Amino acid sequence: MMSPVFDNRFIRELPGDTETGPRRREVTGAAWSSVSPMPVAAPCLLAHSPEVAALLGFDAATVQAPGFAEVFGGNALYPGMQPWAANYGGHQFGHWAGQLGDGRAISLGELLADGRRWELQLKGAGPTPYSRSADGRAVLRSSIREFLCSEAMHHLGVPTTRALSLVGTGEAVVRDMFYDGHPRAEPGAVVCRVAPSFIRFGSFELPAARGDVGLLRQLVDFCIDRDFDHAFRHLPPGLPRDGDWFAEVCTRTATLVAQWMRVGFVHGVMNTDNMSVLGLTLDYGPYGWVEDYDPDWTPNTTDAQGRRYRFGTQMQVAYWNLVRLAQALSPLFDEVAPLQAGLDAFQSRFAEEERRHLLAKLGLGEYREGDEALMAQFLQLLHDGEMDMTLAFRALADVDPDRPDAAALEGAFYSAERRARAMPALHDWLQRHAARVRDEALPAAGRRRTMQAANPKYVPRNWLLQQAIDRAERGDVAGIGELLDVLRHPCDEQPGREAFAQRRPEWARERAGCSMLSCSS
Ligand code: AMP
Ligand code: MG
Repeated sequence: MMSPVFDNRFIRELPGDTETGPRRREVTGAAWSSVSPMPVAAPCLLAHSPEVAALLGFDAATVQAPGFAEVFGGNALYPGMQPWAANYGGHQFGHWAGQLGDGRAISLGELLADGRRWELQLKGAGPTPYSRSADGRAVLRSSIREFLCSEAMHHLGVPTTRALSLVGTGEAVVRDMFYDGHPRAEPGAVVCRVAPSFIRFGSFELPAARGDVGLLRQLVDFCIDRDFDHAFRHLPPGLPRDGDWFAEVCTRTATLVAQWMRVGFVHGVMNTDNMSVLGLTLDYGPYGWVEDYDPDWTPNTTDAQGRRYRFGTQMQVAYWNLVRLAQALSPLFDEVAPLQAGLDAFQSRFAEEERRHLLAKLGLGEYREGDEALMAQFLQLLHDGEMDMTLAFRALADVDPDRPDAAALEGAFYSAERRARAMPALHDWLQRHAARVRDEALPAAGRRRTMQAANPKYVPRNWLLQQAIDRAERGDVAGIGELLDVLRHPCDEQPGREAFAQRRPEWARERAGCSMLSCSS
């Protein structure tokens, strides 16, 4: 058994709330409130990530010991843990929402392992001062989704918070999934998520909105010192350091969103309280994976009206969110130029990353004029032909540039009629793509490997998750581990696992949890 070492800088160095406990309240002049997880009836470890356990130095015996489920279900603490909920605000769906804070997330501590610092945070651990009218709990279905997708994203090479464990609480949680007057009792669960930092854009926006420049200054200094392992960390507060840091936040955000676009991920709730200052994918709620390609698709029915958080608008939304962060930080800057420079760096980094992914996805070596148009035409074809984004890109590596035909892409079509209509244009496009590929004469094997690494075969499609959820709700949690196992190697061919790399089956088209998701979780 190991004994974890905690060093809780967040609550040691930043000002805290004077009141403790979960009484709902406005908390001013403080970055956090001390609050304990609320114990649950029967904590039971349903799944864990062996990779994250290893990162944290938890050996197999520790994970399997009953004490592990007790700690990560919220019933006990390891020595050195000092639970808290963070205070932050945010812009939700385009509007300033005031104080939000960790309404159902409780951090347990900052664990030191192998020279790295990891904040361990329970999601669904009970009420905090920031729970407003809600219960602080999370249902099994949304916890499975967060657990599996965080790990899948990591294996896909997309920056993300990680997930250590999924613990069933043995308690029911009542949710009205579509807010339409049909509440039902669902099993509850707690995920332990793990990241170097959970500081969000909204962490800075709240003190800024309240005119608390002192706290804003403290937060920036703290965040740079603890969370940014860079040369500028050793510079004195103020310019140029703060501008360099903001630019770093901007470029990380650009890298992140470009990765989402590469793999077909739609976050679904890009409110500024869900934007990590480290550029990690944060807060997995009604996210989704593009299947039949449509840049206007959003999985989030709560956003059905405004349709703000669509796949194709994520870059613009990220920029809008960074402008909110720049505004929040502006009291610390006596000139706007460094903030504007950061925002410009977002644009240029996004363009660079998009180009890099374009080349890899299409199997090209060096960028040439016309490549962007080639990509745009392919995406248009996917849309017109109602083709599965993941399967279509994946299949491109199987097209022989010396004898290009559409056979490899047959499995990507959702409708025979749309297939027939798109086929002539697809055939043309494949000829042009093949000519472009032949012109460069890259070694075939290397080109294929690059394409496969950029175009995953296995992604956590909503209906795959839903199948694991349905089984788990019936008491069979094996589906979670099976899916995690497949998603661990998303770009490898995995013989015998073709069922996990299929287009969405017909039953899932209009099924809740598969094509429609809400913020209710
Ligand atoms: P989200 O849309 O999940 O990012 O949540 C927005 C805000 O609502 C955050 O402050 C959350 O902590 C809070 N929240 C969401 N669900 C719950 C819940 N079940 N109990 C308490 N607070 C919640
Ligand atoms: Mg959130």
